[in-house]
Amino acid sequence: MSDTNMNEQTEITASSSAQRPEVTTETSDGEHPSRTVVESDDLSVYYGETQALQDVSLEIPEKQVTAMIGPSGCGKSTFLRCLNRMNDLVDTARVEGDVYLNGQNIYADDVEPVALRRHIGMVFQHPNPFPKSIYDNIAYGLRVQNKEVTDDIIEQSLRRAALWDEVKDDLDKSALDLSGGQQQRLCIARAIAVDPEVLLMDEPASALDPIATSQIEDLIEELAEEYTVVIVTHNMQQAARISDKTAVFLTGGELVEFDDTNKIFESPESQRVEDYITGKFG
Ligand code: ADP
Repeated sequence: MSDTNMNEQTEITASSSAQRPEVTTETSDGEHPSRTVVESDDLSVYYGETQALQDVSLEIPEKQVTAMIGPSGCGKSTFLRCLNRMNDLVDTARVEGDVYLNGQNIYADDVEPVALRRHIGMVFQHPNPFPKSIYDNIAYGLRVQNKEVTDDIIEQSLRRAALWDEVKDDLDKSALDLSGGQQQRLCIARAIAVDPEVLLMDEPASALDPIATSQIEDLIEELAEEYTVVIVTHNMQQAARISDKTAVFLTGGELVEFDDTNKIFESPESQRVEDYITGKFG
C-alpha cells in the first residue's frame, strides 16, 4: 500500500475547511497512544421523531480494529453510516453533532460525499457484487472514483483481500458464481482498490458459514495493518477475537463504554456493560 494514505492532507472538500489539531487515542494502560483518524463529537441521529443515537463522542484510532457491539436496534449501524455520510441517503434521518476525518469535519458544507467515500469505504452485511466479471467489479469501483484501472491494481486489491489465489485464472467469470465468502472478499477488494484510509464493515460475516466467517475474521486482522477498520457485529466473541477497541452501545443509542477490547470483556467499568457481556440481557 502506498504511503500516500491521506495522513498529511485528507482531500474531502472542494476548498479546505477548518482543521482540528491532531489528537491521539490513549490505551487503558496509558501506553502506545495511537493517532485518532475518525472522531465523533456529540453525534445524535433522529429518524423522524425517533432518536437513534444520543450524543456519541468517540475517537477511533489509526490502523486498529474498532468494534461496535450492543443489542439489536441500539444504533450501531446508524453510527457506522454517519462515518461516511450514508445517512444522507435516508430521507427521514437528521444528524446533529460532528464527525472528523483527520481533523476535517466531514459534515462541513463543502465536503463532497463521493470524495469522502474514497477515503472511507464500506462493506455491507450481505455481499453485493455487481452482475459483472470479477475483474470488472473492482474496475467499476475505480472508475466511479475516476481512478486509473490497471491489471496491477486489480491483482493487488485481490491479493490484499486474500482472494487472488482462488480467482486469478477466472477474472473474466461472473462474480455471482463465487461462493458467499468469496463474494464478500471480492467486495472488500473492491472497497480497498481505491486506496481508502478507513474501512467500515457492517456485520460483514453474519451471512456467511463458519469457515468463510473465519477467513473474513483473519482478513480483517490483516487489513488493520494498513487500514483503520470499524466493524459492527452482533457477535461478541467475534469482537473479542478480532478487535483492539470495543464500543458498547445500549438501548436508545447510548454509547455506554469504549475501551480496549480486553478491558471491556474482562473488567468493564459499567455494570450495564458487564450484564450485557455476561448475557444477563440483550
Ligand atoms: P443496530 O445496528 O444496533 O441494530 P440501527 O442503527 O440499525 O441499530 O437502528 C437504530 C434505531 O433506528 C432502531 O430503532 C431502528 O429501528 C431505527 N432505524 C434504523 N434505520 C432506520 C431508517 N432508515 N428509518 C427509520 N428508523 C430507522
